[in-house]
Amino acid sequence: MKKIPIAISSCLLGNKVRFDGGHKQSKYCLDTLNDWFEYQPICPEMGIGMPAPRPPIRLIDDEGDIRVVQVDDQSFDVTDELKAYAENKLPELDDICGYIVIRNSPSCGMERVKVYHKNGNPAGKSDRGVYIKEIMKSRPELPVEEEGRLQDVKLRENFITRVFAYQDFKDSVKDKPSVDALVKFHSRYKYLVMAHNYADYKKLGQLVANNDGLELSELIANYELALMECLKKIANPKSHSNVLYHILGYLKEDLQPEAKKELVNVIEQYRNGSLTLIAPVTLLNHYIKQYGNDYIAQQAYLNPHPIELGLRNYI
Ligand code: SF4
Repeated sequence: MKKIPIAISSCLLGNKVRFDGGHKQSKYCLDTLNDWFEYQPICPEMGIGMPAPRPPIRLIDDEGDIRVVQVDDQSFDVTDELKAYAENKLPELDDICGYIVIRNSPSCGMERVKVYHKNGNPAGKSDRGVYIKEIMKSRPELPVEEEGRLQDVKLRENFITRVFAYQDFKDSVKDKPSVDALVKFHSRYKYLVMAHNYADYKKLGQLVANNDGLELSELIANYELALMECLKKIANPKSHSNVLYHILGYLKEDLQPEAKKELVNVIEQYRNGSLTLIAPVTLLNHYIKQYGNDYIAQQAYLNPHPIELGLRNYI
């Protein structure tokens, strides 16, 4: 399988690019995700010519303007350089399907990076790192996550689902755009979308059905953004169970009463927290192989990411 191109804060790969001359190597990124992701390491601070080691920098609130300055010398301001670096980097990031960053960095932090007053006191607010903020502004559809948050099983599963869905969307629709390709993609993603948010499922269905009088490129761009916003919402046992019952509906005619009873029982055990999601999905996949039609067998919901990652064993 082709590895998925992912940008990553360089220090997470063990590169000694941090202000203290060290790194923040991530075992999960290197040992597990490495089998599926092709990393493009980026250190924006080194990219603008800062050395390692270097004096630390942080975010300050300069009368409403968030700047990145050296902690012990506020005249050393790298805000504009970091913004320009992001802008110049964007064309190189066209292919990436996700970005893994590190938390608390005034350059790379995705959220909740502490902002200080000019006098050094905490300003009681937070922001994004200046570099990643520019990237996220230009690529609002791009899955971005902090490495620390990948320790949370739900956030991890959510991020990796988004990455695989985004890559699939790029390959299936953006690389050979047509209304037919979009309709086929949406048809495969119907239940995955439904599990993440029912209102978005309705909205995306209407967008595909009506086209809203849009040009093809606009239709695809609107769908892409709405899809990725939808998948960002965390699916829960109630919404998953709803989808599992919808899928079970396609098998009802063919399943023996005992098999159907067992499936309902497993879905209910998942819903009440006695089993994880992998149990009903594995059972459904088993019966779909025997009785499922093409439409249900192709649903992305049934295999949104490689089984080897074991992501549904924990949610
Ligand atoms: S700028 Fe980003 S990649 Fe470079 S050391 Fe800081 S957090 Fe790591």
